[in-house]
Amino acid sequence: MAKSSTTPKRNLATQARLSRQRIEKIRTAIGQTDYLCSGTLYEHLSRCGKPGCRCAEDPAARHGPYYDWGHMQGGKLVRRRLSAEQAQLMRRAIDNYRKVKKLLRDWETETERLIEAEAPRDH
Ligand SMILES: [Zn+2]
Repeated sequence: MAKSSTTPKRNLATQARLSRQRIEKIRTAIGQTDYLCSGTLYEHLSRCGKPGCRCAEDPAARHGPYYDWGHMQGGKLVRRRLSAEQAQLMRRAIDNYRKVKKLLRDWETETERLIEAEAPRDH
């Protein structure tokens, strides 16, 4: 990449404007986010253990599906049982978390460009 001192002022202004536009889009996207959770959603079937229940031998007769949400809290993995309806919302929250994390990385990149464009080093 060319040294900032050799870049014409006009290009820097264009770059700054471009970066500010991109940052504005990122801010809008983050601002429209409602559900947001880190972690993983687990979906599983289970055997109840009651004598005579078909679930013991027939995989198709197992109970569920059950949903657990696992996430790190204070350095520990915490799991929590969710209803099917909660799991659906949690899936969206986890998906949003990934999107926002990517947006934050993009924001960081644009900020770096913006600083270079607005306050270039002169040597
Ligand atoms: Zn059973």
